[in-house]
Amino acid sequence: MNKIYSHENSEKNISQEHIKYSNHPLRWMHVDMNSYFATLLQQETPYLRGKPVVVVKDIGRTCVIACSKEAKRIGVKTGMSLADAKKRTQNLYVVPVNFPMFLDCTKKLYKMWKELAPNPEIFSMDEVFLDMNTIPTRVKYKSEKELGFFIQQNVKRTLGEWVTCNVGIGPTRLLAKILGEISEKGSVCSILWTDRLPLLADVLFVDVCGVGRALAKKLACFGVYTPLQIPFLGKETLISYFGSFWAEELLKISNGEDPSFLQRILAEPKERSVGRTTTGFSLCSDRQEILRVFFALCCEVMKKSRALHLYGRTVFFFMMGRTQSAHHRITCTSAITSTKTLFEFAQQWVQSLHAIFPVIRWGVYLSNTQKDLPPSLFPSQDEKHEQIERVLDQLQSKYGSRVLRYAIDFSPTLPDEEVTGFFGEKRIHLQDV
Ligand SMILES: [Mg+2]
Repeated sequence: MNKIYSHENSEKNISQEHIKYSNHPLRWMHVDMNSYFATLLQQETPYLRGKPVVVVKDIGRTCVIACSKEAKRIGVKTGMSLADAKKRTQNLYVVPVNFPMFLDCTKKLYKMWKELAPNPEIFSMDEVFLDMNTIPTRVKYKSEKELGFFIQQNVKRTLGEWVTCNVGIGPTRLLAKILGEISEKGSVCSILWTDRLPLLADVLFVDVCGVGRALAKKLACFGVYTPLQIPFLGKETLISYFGSFWAEELLKISNGEDPSFLQRILAEPKERSVGRTTTGFSLCSDRQEILRVFFALCCEVMKKSRALHLYGRTVFFFMMGRTQSAHHRITCTSAITSTKTLFEFAQQWVQSLHAIFPVIRWGVYLSNTQKDLPPSLFPSQDEKHEQIERVLDQLQSKYGSRVLRYAIDFSPTLPDEEVTGFFGEKRIHLQDV
């Protein structure tokens, strides 16, 4: 089991890599905002600054989705229950999430990154990789670190004085990110290719992007806790226990090279369906209210569909209660292009149900999709609706999603458009920046 690479191979690899990475010793800059969601709320409300703040999805919700650095310092973690977090301190400040504000801040950052480098690689809502090779010559800086400090100042100017970020600089994205992850908050650090081994020997998988909890647990069964220990398992063992894809990925990580998902940040994802789910604050048995939520989800699904130029023929609705659930699937002869048509299917289904059970979770999906539809000579009613909705999309993206909406969906209980920290739908949210 404890096979190591042959001496000959390692020599060859090292010399090739050495040439590759020595040409760009500090090619990648990784910028990561510190405790992004909580810090932005502290920026907005100075009273919260310096205090342990936890962010929840809504008032009354019990899962911590983000926390401030002060809360982290006393052991509060993302994903913890609010009850557990409260055990750490009597003075915990619980604040509901503000997705529109977070998204607005991310858009401001994205604009800033684009001014600095033409193709910023947005990794999550608060993280970006900048390729130093693409930074135009008009941006003057003496060293990469100096540029890092300049970026930190710019972040403060853009989002506010309370907002800090870590800047990690290295020959690969992976090394830059690991370095940023383990460095002191608010720092700027760099690492050369030749200095990577001590870092890879020290860092635990929890700080290594790409090695999730399940993979780290499996590696721990072999006594492997840091990237540098991976090659000692031998390639055959890695392949037999993790499969050939993950064996390759793990070997790249063990050497500080970018695993394939870090090399493909800018690649277009291949979506096959568009969907949106939401969980209500409390069980809902009111048919009209249930339909209102479906309408909000239909609006969002069609908005995504238009942004991705992806139109589906099969629609799937579901609703879930404590003990009961129901779903409905229809496949149409042509693609659905307007919210009105999509919602009518939901309406017909919900109205046809004899009894309504208390619902807590809703979902709408469009699948069986095709890219772009050929324009027709005589636009149908549906296509006319689509054109109106495209104008609505533009207005909402400019002035906010609540400025102009369909008359039917005006309700304070409707879910806000959701933006996750990982930011899987960045193409949709950043397209107008
Ligand atoms: Mg962060």
